[in-house]
Parts: sequence; structure tokens; C-alpha cells
Amino acid sequence: MRSLDEVLKDGIRDISDYPQAGVVFKDITPLLADHGGFSQVVEALAAFGRDADGTVVVDKVVGIEARGFILAAPVALALGAGFVPVRKKGKLPAATYEESYELEYGEATIEVHQDAFEPGDRVLVIDDVLATGGTVEACLRLVRRCGAEVAGTAVLIELSFLPGRDRLAAERVEALVTV
Ligand code: AMP
Repeated sequence: MRSLDEVLKDGIRDISDYPQAGVVFKDITPLLADHGGFSQVVEALAAFGRDADGTVVVDKVVGIEARGFILAAPVALALGAGFVPVRKKGKLPAATYEESYELEYGEATIEVHQDAFEPGDRVLVIDDVLATGGTVEACLRLVRRCGAEVAGTAVLIELSFLPGRDRLAAERVEALVTV
């Protein structure tokens, strides 16, 4: 079996100047197309929802739209936990909480259903890339507003040249690879 590092190296490619000049986009579609690699990554992310004995310690797994959904849903199934989508504003049909955060140009708003969690649910948050940390930070505020407890955040890739880690210094944040 390939190592997780090899799987990530093979499956994540850099696309320069996408979606705008100066940005190097981390494209995970080759990884998703590789059944063995995708399975290893799902297992590695799911490990953050278990304790040292392998006991599952989360009740729900949150995926952040859109690539977070692709990763979080199979992680939820692997853990025997529920899946909760956090979506861009205007996409969820029932009553929501919303949180806004700054982007480089302008602002973004994400939402979650108010009844997405049971009180005290332990939650693992999953996304593909941790960049400035604004998206994850807003997502954690949403989870807590619902009365649930954040067990941790796991991402595939952490961009170390951006301040996501510092911004989330008070949180448990795990990354499969840091670049
Ligand atoms: P941020 O809020 O700055 O941490 O940005 C995180 C969100 O933007 C994640 O949901 C990522 O999907 C996306 N993102 C930011 N930078 C990149 C990048 N270089 N490559 C791919 N996705 C990115």
C-alpha cells in the first residue's frame, strides 16, 4: 500500500492563477478519482473522530460546501455518525443560523439548519483546504450557536504561508499535509 504522503502527493495538483491571478489552487479531483487513495484519505480523516482505542467520539461530521461535502460524507459513514452540511447563504430550505466573514475582496456568508444538531452533539468539521481560516472559524461559530460541541477540525491541506493556524490557535485543527 502507498503511504498517505504518496497518495496526497499523487492526488493533489497545483493549478496556477486559478480562480484568479496569483492564486495556486489545490485541485483534489485526481485524488477523488483514485479509489484506493480516496479510501486512505477518508480513513485518515475519520481517525480524528476516534480516540486512541479506536472508539468513535463524535456524533456528527460537518462538511463545508462544496469540496468539504465530498470528504465529510464518507467520513461520517466510516464513523457511523451523521452528516451535516454547512452551505453558502440561500441554499438551505429550513430555518438557519448564518455567520459572515471577510474574504480578500468582500464578504461571504455560510449557514446551517438550526435543528441540525442535538444539544451537546460532538462535532468533527471537515474541509479540503485551510487557507486564512475564516471559513472554518465561521463554521465553528455556527456549530456552537446550535448548542453542539466542537470536537475538532480536520482538513486535507493546510497552507502554512497563510494565517489559518494562528487564527484558530485556540482550536484543535488537524491537517493531513501542510505545504
Ligand atoms: P479560508 O477561509 O481562507 O481558510 O479558505 C478556505 C476555503 O477556500 C476552503 O473551503 C477552500 O476550499 C478554499 N480555498 C482557499 N484557498 C484555496 C486554494 N489555494 N486551493 C483550493 N481551495 C482553496
